[in-house]
Amino acid sequence: IRLYVEHPLGAGQSLPLDRDQAHYLFGVMRLSAGSQVLLFNGTDGEWLADVTEAKKRAGVLTSVEQTKPLQMPPDLWLLFAPIKKARTDFIVEKAAEMGAAKILPVQTEFTNSERIRQDRLQAHAVEAAEQCGGTYVPEVGELQKLGRLLDHWPEDRQLMFCDEAEVGNALALAAADKSDAPWAILIGPEGGFSPSERKRLHALPYSHVVSLGPRILRADTAAVAAMTLWQQALGD
Ligand code: SAM
Repeated sequence: IRLYVEHPLGAGQSLPLDRDQAHYLFGVMRLSAGSQVLLFNGTDGEWLADVTEAKKRAGVLTSVEQTKPLQMPPDLWLLFAPIKKARTDFIVEKAAEMGAAKILPVQTEFTNSERIRQDRLQAHAVEAAEQCGGTYVPEVGELQKLGRLLDHWPEDRQLMFCDEAEVGNALALAAADKSDAPWAILIGPEGGFSPSERKRLHALPYSHVVSLGPRILRADTAAVAAMTLWQQALGD
């Protein structure tokens, strides 16, 4: 069992469990004193821990030894326009599994979901990291307007702007300069990008417009396809 904890990890470090964690480990997973679990907190790598106290709604773990150092993913941000709830959850989960460092929901002109539950999406990212063996949990941002994000864009970050209107093939991306610059991928909403958004995105000095092939992909498919391409290109 792998558990994300918000607590420093180190040899002999004892860690009190909150009610939910105790219920999950001892009620649901039927662990008891003497069992072992794997812990990670996003900064200290992964640690093996002993269950030193197990009660119905409380318990104590003691981290024993580090099993994996912190493995920071390459510095990729995934920007996506939220779509239907279940599919937005899916995008966040896949982005976390595929090593995005930050997941940023952006509001574009044709985005139809005005609201997201940032705390729920962050919990999906944690669960994905627990499941995939990651030692890092990507930060899920609050929903923000794409234009505002671009107004404050960090100048060293390249932007892979995925556009189904772009004819060509995805390999062009792989050939794009993959210096060790940090990257971002942008996936639009169901209604695609507006003409003025396209115009602005094309004009950005740091953007690379990318086709993900001749068919129109759903935004969640496009997110996974683009991250796969980016990983291939980086040899991550
Ligand atoms: N505008 C189209 C529509 O309304 O059906 C499709 C939008 S598509 C569902 C959502 C996003 O996925 C697009 O904005 C783009 O970022 C990405 N996407 C989908 N297919 C793509 C492709 N073949 N190449 C590049 N990006 C694609």
